[in-house]
Amino acid sequence: MDLRKAEKRIENELPAGGREIVSRLERAGFCAFFVGGCVRDALLGLSPADWDVASAARPEEVRSLFSDLPILSTGLRHGTLTLLSDRPYEITTFRTEGAYSDGRRPDRVAFSRSPEEDLSRRDFTVNALAWSPERGIVDLFGGVADLEGRVLRCVGDPGKRFSEDSLRILRGLRFYAVYGLAPEAATAAAMHALASGLDRLSAERKAKEFSLAVAGRFAGEAFAAFPDLLIALFPALAGRLPDLTLLSRLDPSPEERTAFLFFLAGEEVLAASLDDLRFSRRFSARASLLFRAARSVPPSDRLGMRRFLAVLSPGDAEAAFRIRLAALPAEAAETDRAIALLASLRAGNDLPPRREELAVDGSALLSRGLVREGPEVGRALDLLYRAVVDGKAENGEKALLAYYERRREL
Ligand code: ATP
Ligand code: MG
Repeated sequence: MDLRKAEKRIENELPAGGREIVSRLERAGFCAFFVGGCVRDALLGLSPADWDVASAARPEEVRSLFSDLPILSTGLRHGTLTLLSDRPYEITTFRTEGAYSDGRRPDRVAFSRSPEEDLSRRDFTVNALAWSPERGIVDLFGGVADLEGRVLRCVGDPGKRFSEDSLRILRGLRFYAVYGLAPEAATAAAMHALASGLDRLSAERKAKEFSLAVAGRFAGEAFAAFPDLLIALFPALAGRLPDLTLLSRLDPSPEERTAFLFFLAGEEVLAASLDDLRFSRRFSARASLLFRAARSVPPSDRLGMRRFLAVLSPGDAEAAFRIRLAALPAEAAETDRAIALLASLRAGNDLPPRREELAVDGSALLSRGLVREGPEVGRALDLLYRAVVDGKAENGEKALLAYYERRREL
């Protein structure tokens, strides 16, 4: 990596408000720089989402230095204040961490004036990079070379770092899956050896890290290298994993990829596993829908496809076919034919309308006295929607009312 070019690139990405914050801290005599994800992402050529600042200034010193800006004391216990400039900036006081006794959080954090102490408590070399216009890149642990070599390496002894905080193991899996940073041997060995530590994490944490990791561009590679972590998250998957390298062939949707992961395990196992990690209802519902569609035999004719699309959007149907192709390669020919069939319906403008697009609603039927208030309304609408999907009635108000009257007379 040409460091000069890389610094120029970060500099170009840096918003004016952030530059002013760091420069004011430095003018007041406090060492300050951007650190963590923003430096890592900018060096990878990505646009950082948030620019986090670390500095030697204590929270009260930050407050008095920036009395002209609105300040939120979001993470004050950990020395973090949020300054509202051209966007929110988190400013965290340099810290060292005391002992860890619970495998997740340090027993106490102590403020420090030393940038070296602060950088050495961070999890991975690529996350321990700092940068500022005044100081340039600060790279105490070889993070730039690791980024360049696409290597994930703990700061310090991996066994110790993962025992202190098990979340780092899952973060490691995520950085592999999202950025293609493959854990080097000692880091990988410790991730495997300490996988059972994931038990100590909250369900929500696990769900969040899993969702980010599984959607990553390199998820296939990462999960295939760490199936044990996947099983630590979802014990019911033991012995029932599909070929994990195929994850990368699916869209980067966590629900789609989750449906694939549980293809062999079954819908009940999927539902129970997602429940255990307290995934949102919405996430579970979509993963289950895709699972069911992927496990059903793909439609082989126009009518079958229109009925399939009556319960599934065309995009979801395509997702289901992708999952099935990956999970059942022996049946690829059949699935490919369904994909072609769906494409031809789409090209010929022959997709059925969505249920909400039905040209009549309950009140149209009620006002004409065609149905009585109550369950009859829903039944009539179901019947009309099925008629439209099957091509027996046109989706227009007049046509549908006439169809319904004719049906009633039969
Ligand atoms: P992203 O924001 O893209 O998820 P990030 O690396 O910025 O990635 P944050 O959670 O925002 O992640 O943390 C900011 C920085 O704090 C990290 O880059 C890392 O230096 C440090 N950090 C975060 N979590 C841990 C942890 N569990 N152990 C050690 N250091 C951590
Ligand atoms: Mg971040």
